[in-house]
Amino acid sequence: MDRTSKITRRGFVQSGAGALATTGIFAGIAEAGSISTFGTTQETAKPHSTGVSRMSGKIALEEHFALPEGDNAYHIAPTPDFRLQMVDLGERRLADMDRGGVEICILSHTAPGLQAILDTSAAIAAARRWNDYLAEKIAKYPKRLRGFAALPMQDPQAAAQELTRCVKELGFCGALVNGFSQVGVADSAVFYDLPQYRPFWAVVEQLGVPFYLHPRPPLPSRAQVYEGHPWITGSSWGFAVETSIHALRLMGSGLFDEYPKLQIILGHLGEGLTFGIWRVDNRIVRLKEKTNAKRSMAEYLRENFYITTSGQFRTPSLTEVILEVGADRVMYSVDYPYEDIEAGAAWFDQAPLAELDRIKIAYGNARKLFRL
Ligand code: MN
Repeated sequence: MDRTSKITRRGFVQSGAGALATTGIFAGIAEAGSISTFGTTQETAKPHSTGVSRMSGKIALEEHFALPEGDNAYHIAPTPDFRLQMVDLGERRLADMDRGGVEICILSHTAPGLQAILDTSAAIAAARRWNDYLAEKIAKYPKRLRGFAALPMQDPQAAAQELTRCVKELGFCGALVNGFSQVGVADSAVFYDLPQYRPFWAVVEQLGVPFYLHPRPPLPSRAQVYEGHPWITGSSWGFAVETSIHALRLMGSGLFDEYPKLQIILGHLGEGLTFGIWRVDNRIVRLKEKTNAKRSMAEYLRENFYITTSGQFRTPSLTEVILEVGADRVMYSVDYPYEDIEAGAAWFDQAPLAELDRIKIAYGNARKLFRL
């Protein structure tokens, strides 16, 4: 099959969709620049058998913003256009979403965000302000933009209250938290498996919303392993190391035995956990030091975690994740504006997947989880 002759510059199939579209399993192919009528009878999976196409209707949920007045120390070298993409919650963002076939973005404040505010009462006040700001922006495009709450995890009770407010009053989809929180002094790191967070987790479970555990840069004072190699510390590798360890801490603490309905979301195709989880369990049984968990880590990974494709546009890695946790636990995401929204689509829309799995990952699982 000629996979190139019918491809336009923007990657849309010019013909050949009709036959499949009539089956009812596959619906019509997106026209250039259009988006699907999401949530209606046209719940579309686009045929991919005839060449490159742009699947529409995707939901992306690791997509970041910053407040215009925010003083953000981005971990990349930001261009002026990157800054614009980061703060725009209007036409520019929607145009980019259209280019990537993304119908709905669930937005979150970029890292480290609230987690790096040392003063707890300042973090609590900022949380309210930032979440109100996001809610106001979302209200202008209710069919396209949704939100994750930023939470002042420095104070577990305040975090629970803010999440409750965001879900019940602002209609947010859950929370996205940028790793550990610094509390009081710069050289501090509080992780959420600690006992003082159990009442917080009870509220998360009761609200029935997921908690996205997103990376943040490590503290120089606690990161000797990266010394002399700053390029390893961040999104290239260190993010995955630190976030996967935080996730393992949650699992090993027995958190999911106490709150079995909790759902944690991990980005970047699971921060390496699917690849390593068999060895984790295999070694645990031989270790002198035991976990506080009742079940295997692989069971928690399969039942208490969702995994997104953010910033990992790589088919062998996605395949490995699906083999470990199943396509029902994987959701599409980009990591905008750190990643190119069109590059994400160019990869995902053509990745060799069963079409029903592609639909689940693109939006089916997210619609179910977030009741969209
Ligand atoms: Mn991200």
